[in-house]
Amino acid sequence: MSSTAPQSTDVLVIGAGISGLIAAYNLSKAGKSVQVVEARDRVGGRAWTDTSLGFPVELGCMAIHGYIEGNPVKRYASELWLETKLLPNSPGTLLTTDGPVDKALAAKLSSNLSAAMAHLATTASTSPSQELKGSSVADILLSRSSPLYEGLSDNDRPKATSLARSLEIGWGISLESTSASYAGWASDIAFAGSDGVVVGGYGKFAEALKSAAEKTGKAEFALGAPVEKVARVENGIEVVAKNGKSYRARTALSTIPLGVLKVLPNNFFDPPLPPRKRLVLERTSVGALEKLCLTYDSLWWDPQAGPFTLLTDNAVILAIPLSENPATLHVLIPHSVLNLSGDEVHSMLAKAIAPGKTVPAPTKVFGSSWKEDALSLGATSSPVAVGEDRTPLDLAEAARPVWNGILGFAGEATEMDHRGSVPGALLSGEREAKRIIDLLNRRKS
Ligand SMILES: Cc1cc2nc3c(=O)[nH]c(=O)nc-3n(C[C@H](O)[C@H](O)[C@H](O)COP(=O)(O)OP(=O)(O)OC[C@H]3O[C@@H](n4cnc5c(N)ncnc54)[C@H](O)[C@@H]3O)c2cc1C
Repeated sequence: MSSTAPQSTDVLVIGAGISGLIAAYNLSKAGKSVQVVEARDRVGGRAWTDTSLGFPVELGCMAIHGYIEGNPVKRYASELWLETKLLPNSPGTLLTTDGPVDKALAAKLSSNLSAAMAHLATTASTSPSQELKGSSVADILLSRSSPLYEGLSDNDRPKATSLARSLEIGWGISLESTSASYAGWASDIAFAGSDGVVVGGYGKFAEALKSAAEKTGKAEFALGAPVEKVARVENGIEVVAKNGKSYRARTALSTIPLGVLKVLPNNFFDPPLPPRKRLVLERTSVGALEKLCLTYDSLWWDPQAGPFTLLTDNAVILAIPLSENPATLHVLIPHSVLNLSGDEVHSMLAKAIAPGKTVPAPTKVFGSSWKEDALSLGATSSPVAVGEDRTPLDLAEAARPVWNGILGFAGEATEMDHRGSVPGALLSGEREAKRIIDLLNRRKS
């Protein structure tokens, strides 16, 4: 399907993350011919599993949130003959930088946080929108009268404040920057509750989708081909890639992440995107979250005690024991502490998990850098930020097709009810595949 090929392809899919792969899989199963054009030399995008240690280490997404509550990843995994499993629901150990927090206090802090979040969601949904305009989640969640602090001594209140920052792990921005207006907006719909994983990692899920799409005989993948231009041409769309090739089809689907769309040159899309869509892309923020893997020659923590939730002054660092041999910790590094080195994270964890003891230094340290990665420029879209003057409906605008419907948009940042997640990406790919199939069928008849 090079520049010399006739315009016989039905759909060009730009990007082979979960949204692009789900779209390609569904389109090809429906008999539509698909050319996927992906910048990286692998599929999966922010689903990226490292296997260099001999077992899966997720450097992007990891959990199937809402595993028994209907997360659609499970349905696709079973269709692709992949194994998934439910993770044990263990509270693990809550730590301050000086050592473990008493179990009864840890349970109280956790139930207070749940009550404070419920109070926040009720306040957000029942207050006139003007009243909360300009207010942040921190203004309500961390206010003196918040249920977060109910029954706590002055000494323990700062621990409650710190634990509330665990919300920042998934949001990618601070409680102070997150608008209160839409707090809990999608919480009745979001996949939540139990957690599961794809056995072997999300990378396997991505590979299986690619193979299944190829097996239909209708899908082809060009990897290592960053798209530089998307142009409307006679009877369709032309995509020009850095590999020197251009691809043409009747329709196209962009799954380029929000962080990347925000910085694309104006002439990337020709004709340019309409002003309303450009405005939404400008004013919608992207959060940060990184993964770090620490491996040791010997085990120095009690594996039954994990996961470890470490409360620091400005962040919650979550460390999940992954393996006993080699002893490995999988650490989530939230937006406010991205500058910590692997050694610094190790020292903080060692002091908190094994206070006063000598522990071995890590033998191998590696991780992600989604914020710097030119093909993601951040972890995921964030909740509505204070002062953005936007609503979650902006993500519906980000999803709207242009050019009489022949150029569509998918990706986690186009699903307002499930933004920032694998199911969001997946449902966006399904949504666009269905829309494009209908469009192509209508044009045929
Ligand atoms: C650290 C981290 C942890 C996470 N944890 C979870 C979790 O536990 N559970 C969960 O549900 N979600 C989680 N997520 C979110 C989840 O990973 C994403 O929502 C989802 O993978 C996004 O898929 P996507 O298809 O929208 O985007 P992507 O996966 O980013 O796919 C977009 C693709 O487009 C490609 N691309 C970009 N520019 C171009 C170009 N010019 N030309 C061609 N190709 C291009 C990229 O290389 C990429 O492959 C996490 C995310 C991160 C970063």
